[in-house]
Order: sequence, then C-alpha cells, then structure tokens
Amino acid sequence: MSLLSDLPRDEEKRSLHFIEQIIEEDNLSNKHQGRVHTRFPPEPNGYLHIGHAKSICLNFGVAEKYGGKCNLRFDDTNPEKEEEEYVQSIMEDVRWLGFQWDNEPYYASDYFQQLYEWAVLLIKKGVAYVDDQPQEMISQQRGTPTRPGIESPFRTRSIEENLHLFEAMKRGEFPNGSRVLRAKIDMSSPNMHMRDPVMYRILHAEHHRTGNIWKIYPMYDFAHGQSDYIEGITHSLCTLEFEVHRPLYDWFLDQIIETEYRPRQIEFARLNLSYTVMSKRKLLELVQKGIVKGWDDPRMPTIAGLRRRGYTPASIRNFSDRIGVAKRDNVIDVGLLEFVLREDLNKTTNRVMAVLNPVRLVITNYPEGQTEWVELENNPEDTESGSRHVPFGRELYIEKDDFMIDPPKKYFRLAPDREVRLKGAYVVKAVRYELDDKGELSTIYGVYDPETKSGSGTKQPKVKGTLHWVDASSAVDAEVRLYDRLFMDEDPAGHKDRDALDFLNPDSLVILKNCKVEPSLAQAQIGDTFQFQRIGYFCVDTESQKDALVFNRTVPLRDNWAKLNK
Ligand code: ATP
Ligand code: MG
Repeated sequence: MSLLSDLPRDEEKRSLHFIEQIIEEDNLSNKHQGRVHTRFPPEPNGYLHIGHAKSICLNFGVAEKYGGKCNLRFDDTNPEKEEEEYVQSIMEDVRWLGFQWDNEPYYASDYFQQLYEWAVLLIKKGVAYVDDQPQEMISQQRGTPTRPGIESPFRTRSIEENLHLFEAMKRGEFPNGSRVLRAKIDMSSPNMHMRDPVMYRILHAEHHRTGNIWKIYPMYDFAHGQSDYIEGITHSLCTLEFEVHRPLYDWFLDQIIETEYRPRQIEFARLNLSYTVMSKRKLLELVQKGIVKGWDDPRMPTIAGLRRRGYTPASIRNFSDRIGVAKRDNVIDVGLLEFVLREDLNKTTNRVMAVLNPVRLVITNYPEGQTEWVELENNPEDTESGSRHVPFGRELYIEKDDFMIDPPKKYFRLAPDREVRLKGAYVVKAVRYELDDKGELSTIYGVYDPETKSGSGTKQPKVKGTLHWVDASSAVDAEVRLYDRLFMDEDPAGHKDRDALDFLNPDSLVILKNCKVEPSLAQAQIGDTFQFQRIGYFCVDTESQKDALVFNRTVPLRDNWAKLNK
C-alpha cells in the first residue's frame, strides 16, 4: 500500500509518467501531426466515483498539458441500465472538477447507424456471422485459457444468409437472446476475447436517447475503438482490465480502417482506495438498501458525495496528480486523500469558533448585559484573509470535554481552580460548577482578569491551554453531522467468504443537534467550508436552511485512524 511518505511533495517536479512519455515520443515522431486527443468514456449507469475522477484528471490533464482536446463520451450501449439522471450527474461532476470537454458531449449511441454499417461490412468480408445458439452454448464452446474452443455449427453460413438474418435481427423479428452476431476470428486463440466474440445482441429495450428505434445493440468491444476512430482520438486511455481486449480493439479497427491514422489504446492501473468500495454495483446496493441516503451521501466515494462532504476540486486534482499513474494494480491509503484535502483546506478556509457539545460558562465578575467585540484572525495561513469581530459576554459556551472536575496533573484545559485563555479574549479561572439532576455537568462558574485581554492587556500570563468558545447570548444553533469512514475494514470488498456490508462502520454518522456556533456563521451559504477551531474542517450541507443550519464534518484536524491503528 502507498503511504504518506511515498507522496511526492507538492512543489517537487515530477518526472513524466509512462503515458506522457508515449505522447512525447508520438509528438517527436510526428505520428499524429502533434495532435493529442483523449476522451473520458463513462457508461451512464451510475454516479462517478473517485476512481473515475482519477481517469478524468488523467484524460483531461494530458490533453491540457499538450495543448490537445478531451472529449466526454457517454458509452451508452447498454439500454437496460442507463438513465438520463446519470448523464446529468456525470456532466455536473466533470465540470465541478474544473474540466471542459471539447465540443458537445458525444454518445456512442450517435454512432449506432455507422456501427451497424461496419457490421454489415464485416459480414460481407466474411469475418462476421449470425449464431443461432443460446448464450449458454456459446459460453460452453468458448473453452478455457488452456483448452481451445469449439467452432459454432453456424460459423460457415453463407454471406447472403448472414446479411439476411442480421437485417431481420435489426428489424426486430427475433426475440431477445435468440441470435447474436459474432466476429469470425479464431476459436483456438490463446486470448479468449479473440474466440469469435459477440458483436451484437438482440435487445427489445427502450434506450434513453434512441428510444425504440434499435432492436440490436453493439457490445462494448465493437463500439469503443470505432467510437475513438470516429472522434479522431489519438490516445485511448483505459484501465488494465482492458489490456486483454486490446488485440480485439485493434482487430476491429483493422477491418474498417483504410487511413494511416488510428487510435491507440493504452492501459493504466485503476485507482483502489483502502477502506472504500468502488464498484458501481456495490455503490448502487448501498443506495438501494438505504445504508446511505443517496448517491451524494457524504460517506460515499462518489464525486457528488465528496463534494457534499466538503472536498474541493483542487484537493481531488492534487490527489490524482500526486498518486501518479501506475502500470500495476495497487491500493492507495485513503489517508492520503484526506491528507491532501487538509493541506488545501488549511490554506483556504477561515477559522471560526463552534462548540459541538456545549456547557455554559458564567464569568461572575464580568458586567451583566455587557458585550464587547474581540478581533480574531480569519486565517493565519492566508495574510489576505483579514480578521473579524466576535462578540464576548458574561455567559459563554465551551466544550464539555474542555472541563474536568478532577483532572490529572498534565491536563491543560479548564478545571476547578485552574486557568485557561479563551481564544482571542481573556484568561479565566474556574471557581465552581453545578451538576444537573442526572449528575451531568450543567454550568461552570469562573472569574476573569480584565488586564489579560489578548494582544492589548497589560498582563499576559503564560497559560498552557487555549479554548475556543461562543458567546451565549448571540450564539447560533446548528446541527452538526460527524461523518467518518463507511467501512472499518481496509479492504471491505476483498474477502472471499464475506460481504463488504459485514464491515460497515456503525459510527460512520453521528448527529449532534445542540451545537452552538459564532454569529458570523448565520450568513454561511451551502457549500461554504470552515475550520472549526481545534476540531476540524466543516462545510454547510445541502440540507441546511436559513434558520436551521446544518454542517458536515469534512475531516477532523488530524488523522484519527492512523492513531487507532498504531
Ligand atoms: P462498469 O464498467 O463496471 O460499469 P466502470 O467503473 O468501469 O464500471 P465506466 O463508466 O465504464 O465505469 O468508466 C469510465 C472510465 O473510467 C473508464 O475509462 C474506466 O476505465 C475509468 N475508471 C473506472 N474506474 C476507475 C478507477 N477505479 N480508477 C481509474 N479509472 C477508472
Ligand atoms: Mg467500464
């Protein structure tokens, strides 16, 4: 597994990855007249996830770097699983990441007529045939990697009969599954994908764009390379599982191409993240079983989920950049993603004060009814971020955890007879406390020293602890949702005899209803991100309303899991 220490530092110049090397060689040899044209080809059958983000950053990234273009192409050859909702979400996600595709989005379905004509061409060349056998029979005859396959009895059909049958398939004269069109290649090829692969299947299904026009649909392998060719793609980047499809990608192009130009398929390792499931099927199951509250639940590794969680486009692009492009499958520690996110938020978010588990602190020697404004820096990491004024008064809220009745010696927060500084304000000393009928701490009483005001006071005693606080009379109520990893296991989907759902983290969402935040946050808009001082990074949730603020925890300030696992 890749660890934090393996990450190149942000400012370090990285050497070219292998795909950039190929592109530079092609540019040197003038293979495509210096053209670089990539595409990102999602199937609109689910929301995009962080793995897709890696592919987006790579495809759009190299195009940008070499002054080229990148297409967005919906690979919509499978009408039964595809929906317009997914098309919309995919476009939104790509744009949000900061990329713009060349032209309008493309659709494999725009090429159905051309693909059909190419299939007819292959039949006429004698390298494609209609097989009447059921799918199970065809699978059985495929053989195994060590045993050659068996040729179909329909393999030797005449060209005329094939043309006639394929047209009848197209007209919808046969039921689903009754026939397929296959390429006639080699039933004893060591590459199983070359054993007369299926090119077309019969499907009486409504397509999200072409409606009921088509009764036959091309398979991925018969659509992808040709779509690349139609669009003038130079480098067709895909994940490693397609390496074994490459001979077929090239074989289909060989059958139809007469020009010098042809796209080249190049495979890279897919992104796997620890503590995360990334298969669309599994993500759909989480949604359908109500384990999460939708594709954009902040615990989902979808781009929509990460966005709602408070991830920034910059953090995802940096992450993608810094993990590089690998040729071998590997697993990246999800801690790296969180690390890169903190790095970004640390620079860009304002520090504010929020108390998640409030307890009242009354400063008995502070004048009743008085409010003063203390000045606090917005972000020490960003000199241009300025400062703001926060009200301070006689009654405040502090965190319950920041007070202990009977503390050990090294406890530097508040306790009877001990002193702390209230961030940006005064030094206070706790004098006594009250418990409620349940024995829970309800109020702390303390005294302050007016000479100790931060910055301007004449006395600046050295106190070890500084606490965040919120003025009680002006505090704004908020709900805070503490999100954590959805799975407790490093490789939830990697167990032979157990389901990923066995490893759900029961504490992946903890809702705190009675939080108190400083009044400046009443103006916060959906999506705004903040550092709650001493606690972590938070953003305003999409369900937040003017009088019912909801914050999501994006990440805690430090990696709690790293500690737990030591
Ligand atoms: P499936 O095909 O099972 O529905 P998929 O995740 O491959 O799922 P696609 O929509 O086909 O989904 O993927 C679009 C592009 O994103 C493809 O080029 C694919 O290789 C790439 N991609 C998908 N998952 C990852 C990943 N984990 N890391 C990097 N690239 C990925
Ligand atoms: Mg795929």
